[in-house]
Amino acid sequence: MNRWFGGIEAGGTKFICLVGAGPNTIVEEIRIPTTTPVETIGRALKFFEPYARRGELAAVGIASFGPVDLNPSSSTYGCITTTPKPGWAGVDLRGQIHRALHLPVAFDTDVNAAAFGEHTWNPENHSLESLVYMTVGTGIGVGVIANGRPLHGLLHSEAGHMAVPHDINRDPFPGICPYHGDCLEGLACGPALARRWGCPAEALPAGHPAWELEGEYLAFGLANLVYTISPQRIVLGGGVAQHPDLHEIVRRQVQRILNGYLRSPLLLEKMDQYLVPPALGSRSGVLGAIAMARQVAERGG
Ligand code: ADP
Ligand code: ZN
Repeated sequence: MNRWFGGIEAGGTKFICLVGAGPNTIVEEIRIPTTTPVETIGRALKFFEPYARRGELAAVGIASFGPVDLNPSSSTYGCITTTPKPGWAGVDLRGQIHRALHLPVAFDTDVNAAAFGEHTWNPENHSLESLVYMTVGTGIGVGVIANGRPLHGLLHSEAGHMAVPHDINRDPFPGICPYHGDCLEGLACGPALARRWGCPAEALPAGHPAWELEGEYLAFGLANLVYTISPQRIVLGGGVAQHPDLHEIVRRQVQRILNGYLRSPLLLEKMDQYLVPPALGSRSGVLGAIAMARQVAERGG
C-alpha cells in the first residue's frame, strides 16, 4: 500500500509517465505524444488510475514545460501560463491530476525537477548545497538547486533567455527567440543550430565549426551562472548535449572565459568533475518528479 510514487515529465513533444520509487525501482513507464490537453492528460490519467485505485500511490510529482505558475497562494498555481503551444496556455495541469487521482501533487518546472532528480539520486550530488542543471534541446532551460532545494523566486529561472555576446560579423545568424532574437536560447538551442547550418544538430559532424561556436555560447551562459549562483556542480543535458565533443568544448570555453579569476580547483583543474552529463540520462526530469512526490508525501501533502 502506498509504496509507489507517480512522476510526470510534461514536455512540449511528449509526456513521460512513471510509477516507481527511484532509478532502481521503476514499476512502469510510458511515453505519450503531446497533442491536445484533453487527450494527453486523459492518457496520463488512464495510466495512473489503476495504481491510484488500488491505493498503491502515495503522491504524484509533475515536471512541466512552461512558463508555469509556482506560487501556491495564486489562483493559477500549477497552471501553464504563456506557451505558444496551441491549446496549452492556461491549462491547469496540477489541478486536473490532483482532482482526478485524489492524491497530493508536487509541481515544478521540468528543469528544476531535473536538477532535483540529479541532486537526489546521484550520490555524488546529494550533499551539495547548490547545483545548476542546463538542458539544451528544443529550447534552453536552467534549473537551480540552492540551499539543497529547487529555487523559486518572483517566478522561476528563465536563464536560457539570458543575453550572451553575439559578434554578428563572425555569426550573422539573427537568432530565433520570438521574444529576444539572439538570446542564448535564440542562438544555441537545437532548432537554432538546424536553422543556422541547414541540417539537424545530430547531423553536424564532430569538428564542424558549429560545435566550437555552440560551445562558446553555452559557456558564456554558464560562466554567467557561475558568477551569479556559484553552483558546486553543473549538469549539462538535453538532446544537443549528446554530441560527443560538446562537454569538452564547453569546459574549455568556460575556463577561457573565467580566465583564472575564480580560485577553485574544480574550475582551474578539475572541470571534468565540475561540468558533467546527467547521471540519469534522459530520465532526470521524470525521476526528479518522483523525488518531488516522495517529498510531498513525507510532508503529508
Ligand atoms: P526536448 O528539448 O524537446 O525535450 P531534446 O532534449 O531531445 O528534446 O532535444 C531535441 C534537440 O536535440 C533537437 O533539436 C535535436 O536536433 C537535438 N539532438 C538530438 N540528438 C542529438 C545528438 N545526438 N547530437 C546533437 N543534437 C541532438
Ligand atoms: Zn529569449
